[in-house]
Amino acid sequence: MNIDPDCIFCKVAAGDIPSAKILEDEAALAFMDIGPVAPGHVLLIPRPHWSTVDQMPPDALAATMRHLPALVGAVRSATGCEGVNVLQNNGRLAGQVVDHVHFHVIPRSPGGAFTFNWPAGEYPEGRMEQLADAIRGCL
Ligand code: 5GP
Ligand code: ZN
Repeated sequence: MNIDPDCIFCKVAAGDIPSAKILEDEAALAFMDIGPVAPGHVLLIPRPHWSTVDQMPPDALAATMRHLPALVGAVRSATGCEGVNVLQNNGRLAGQVVDHVHFHVIPRSPGGAFTFNWPAGEYPEGRMEQLADAIRGCL
């Protein structure tokens, strides 16, 4: 199993750093975020170390994500929130601070401090198809 001895979430997974665990199995664990952007903010991580999601074998990702339905439901029930965001950051520019893949499960309630802009843009003629071609070509 990949482990990075300097990684804080590898240490959480190993139990070397304490955490308020929500669930765990051989593939993944979920625990409370110590810097919650909303009360009830949970992190779901694969147990092995990968920095970004594109490095993960699909099976390892599936074994992590299989917990999401129950986790999102439990966060919703426990907090009484109206909505839940599932967010995952890859790279500094995308807001990633801890370089071990993690999914934020964030309950959303009216008046909550956590908001984000969704600056929907538009493509010039042909650009969307060109980018779709480029992305498909990189699969
Ligand atoms: P990122 O910005 O990398 O997507 O998110 C990292 C998250 O990890 C932050 O929300 C931060 O509060 C949380 N975090 C950082 N260190 C620890 C820790 O030692 N324990 C726990 N439970 N959460 C942490
Ligand atoms: Zn790690």
